[in-house]
Amino acid sequence: MPLRASPAPASVASTPARRRYVVAGGVVGAGDGTAIGFVLHGARIERLLHVGDAIAPDDGVLDFRPHTLAPGTIDVHTHGGAGCSFSAGPEDDTRQICRYRASTGTTGLLATITGTWDELMAALPKLRRLAEQPVDGAALLGIHVEGPFVNPVRKGAISPETMRLPSVDDLRRLHDAAGGAIKMMTVAPELPGAFPVIERMVTLGIVPSVGHSDASYEQVIDAVTSGVRKSTHTYNAMRPLLHRDPGTVGGILADDRVFAELIADGVHVHAGAMKVLLNAKGVRRTVLVTDGVRYAGLPEGIYERPGRGRLRIGNGVAITDDGTIAGSVSPLNRNLCLLRDELGVPLEDLFTMAAAVPADLLELATKGGLTPGADADFAAYDAGLTCLATFVAGQQVYRAP
Ligand SMILES: [Zn+2]
Repeated sequence: MPLRASPAPASVASTPARRRYVVAGGVVGAGDGTAIGFVLHGARIERLLHVGDAIAPDDGVLDFRPHTLAPGTIDVHTHGGAGCSFSAGPEDDTRQICRYRASTGTTGLLATITGTWDELMAALPKLRRLAEQPVDGAALLGIHVEGPFVNPVRKGAISPETMRLPSVDDLRRLHDAAGGAIKMMTVAPELPGAFPVIERMVTLGIVPSVGHSDASYEQVIDAVTSGVRKSTHTYNAMRPLLHRDPGTVGGILADDRVFAELIADGVHVHAGAMKVLLNAKGVRRTVLVTDGVRYAGLPEGIYERPGRGRLRIGNGVAITDDGTIAGSVSPLNRNLCLLRDELGVPLEDLFTMAAAVPADLLELATKGGLTPGADADFAAYDAGLTCLATFVAGQQVYRAP
């Protein structure tokens, strides 16, 4: 029977029990603006569907029309959510964060951690174990350690006592504790000993990311030549761009080899600075991240942090008593909506930056797009980019109430 092109009432089945499903909706991220759905076969996308294509009569149907189907977003910088943090707490906390993130359209993430040496050493084996298990939510694709080889001069919300000078030995201990699950580390290349550490990260399969850094323009260019591939929350907690001292920001914007993270929550970076970044880097070199903290997904208000003062949560951001931004609480789909509505970024480009580019960066060839053969990691969104349902490896892990 042919798939009808006209909208039908949205009727969404529960988690697929069959092997093959026709998933109907406007498809973004297929490199083809004309697809009206795709065939889901087990954990994979089998083929795209166009008007008039025949479908097998015994295939199930997941009809999301008139809504949008997009590749699941991949967040390489997220500390937690739903009241839980990747850096501490039991394994159930991590599962809770992954379930929360699925409700925002995210299907894969790097658990991002900061902390004292002992805290890192406790969190790494826990997260490695969880990365090896299937989760009922966004998949744990690995770990991003934000530090400890970063610069107290650009501490942002990271406690300076947790920072240490770069050491190949310490890097090896972190790598061993994580059993190879560290996929990304934030590093300040201007610190003594940073270059050998950056080079070792590359051989260990870790993406070095410049951040919490006071590096000069020249130091950034040299660091990229030595293996740095990305920046951590570009503009935030790094030496700014001045016309005679282009700084860390200038190096990142100027060097086409390097990917740039952007927290597009409307608070961390001014809309004009976001536009500068998008113009300089282009969508194929921009990675949208949340930098979401444990308070993401919780109601607005004041939260006490034992031993660390209070946090005020509101308008998508967490602010400490001294006025420092302590990470975002804005969900990634909200950030996508802001970029679309305030900067006019097309939907295809949004999902390139939130799904395809992070997949490229992590060398996940079957993720980040809805092309034939790709992993069936996707989400359905309404016109306001509210997430309606999320699938990981063909299994529904979230459905809007
Ligand atoms: Zn962070």
